[in-house]
Amino acid sequence: MATKEEENTVFDVKAANVLTQELRDVFASGKTRSYEWRISQLKSIVKMCDEHEEDIVDALRLDLSKPQLESIVYELTMVKNSCALAIKELKRWMMPEKAKTTLTTFPSSAEVLSEPLGAVLIISAWNYPFLLSMDPLIGAIAAGNAMVLKPSELAPASSALLAKLLPEYLDCSLIKVVEGAVSETSALLEQKWDKIFYTGSSSFLGNGRVGRIVMAAAAKHLTPVVLELGGKSPVVVDSGIDIQIATRRIIVGKWGCNNGQACISPDYIITTKDCAEKLVDSLKKELEAFYGKNPLESKDLSRIVNSNHFARLTKLLDEDKVSGKIVYGGERDEANLRIAPTILLGVPQNSLIMKEEIFGPLLPILTVSKIEDSFDIIKSGTKPLAAYLFTNNKKLKEQFLMSVSAGGVVINDTTLHLAVHSVPFGGVGESGMGSYHGKFSFDAFSHKKAVVYRSFVGDASLRYPPYTLGKLRL
Ligand code: NAD
Repeated sequence: MATKEEENTVFDVKAANVLTQELRDVFASGKTRSYEWRISQLKSIVKMCDEHEEDIVDALRLDLSKPQLESIVYELTMVKNSCALAIKELKRWMMPEKAKTTLTTFPSSAEVLSEPLGAVLIISAWNYPFLLSMDPLIGAIAAGNAMVLKPSELAPASSALLAKLLPEYLDCSLIKVVEGAVSETSALLEQKWDKIFYTGSSSFLGNGRVGRIVMAAAAKHLTPVVLELGGKSPVVVDSGIDIQIATRRIIVGKWGCNNGQACISPDYIITTKDCAEKLVDSLKKELEAFYGKNPLESKDLSRIVNSNHFARLTKLLDEDKVSGKIVYGGERDEANLRIAPTILLGVPQNSLIMKEEIFGPLLPILTVSKIEDSFDIIKSGTKPLAAYLFTNNKKLKEQFLMSVSAGGVVINDTTLHLAVHSVPFGGVGESGMGSYHGKFSFDAFSHKKAVVYRSFVGDASLRYPPYTLGKLRL
């Protein structure tokens, strides 16, 4: 147990400096380079998940009232799956990749070596506090780095649990957890890192422009960054589809993912005027079937993380331009930080709700005359983290893929690309830079070192002076 003195110790720039130096010293010993070290850490993560499933689910319940099934499926199982894949593939990922050489370098051979970057900083967000801390950590371990994890202070139970469990299961000389908020994160950001992996907001949410703060801090040391940010992820709903299936898939992506507090949750829907009524009816019917007549009391919906976010969301809902547009839901319970699934129809594009990332249980629906007009609406905003299209029309699919730029796209479902580890997960433009998941996580935390091998046989003289044109004709 920590003494009173230890409890009162501030984590400032000096402490952060000592910590990074310690990490660098141990990293320099070469311990992380071995396959055995990496595998043992990855296996310990699986063990930790198995032995503390209940504690992890409890922490998520305390932080967000996250339903048990969501915690198990979207946090624990995802972490275990990432670990299992890394354990299975690590040998292959670590192998040098043979590369082709050209006639100019003949005779030679070449390969690409993946080497650890060094000491990396992982700053995670509150909405999936276990997954968003552990998933990048798995990549950083697989690639053989030393690291500091800074979980989000807005999910204090999960942060405290990670700070307790990680030193029990992992090599604490190379994998450290620093808890805290802005001042602790700022102290860490003053240090020189070999990579900063940040998950959080880019602009208006939470504490504001944090993605930019992280990137500016990294630039001082020329540190590369992965920024996993957010944005307004649209859903385009075309006519001629199975509306019930589409509706259910939109609902699980929106309210079934932390009650809309997920980076790739559908942020708004665009459909044609003809389809809107059918879609709203179907949403109402399926929402009631899933969450009952009084969703504020549903055990299958997370609560809003804190009163600041509750106030932010109710402000979006109470704006004059918007308040009359609610066609379903709108109920709230401030004392318990709950907002019911809420659908709004025909909100103006210049309303706050259409300007900001919603990150909560409100879902506006915009209507257009022709479905193709939806592309211009999407393109008028910043590039989203995810974009979804429900259609049976091949041409529309192709047009969507050609004209909408987004971190990831799912056709005829929502959020599922997150679970496909063979595709990169990340944003584009203001929704982020860099990516991870599966091998992409290993690559995000590796330097790809180009190596060319030559022998003393075949010492071509073309490069050697004196230069004569005659040599070129040989
Ligand atoms: P946030 O930016 O408020 O906080 C994220 C982290 O940044 C926390 O660890 C916090 O301590 C730290 N932080 C906050 N203010 C800081 C400051 N001034 N200086 C230094 N560090 C600071 O973001 P959030 O509200 O926790 O997360 C929500 C946002 O994250 C949404 O935009 C969402 O879309 C995005 N997100 C993205 C992904 C993804 O994978 N792309 C995943 C989850 C959330």
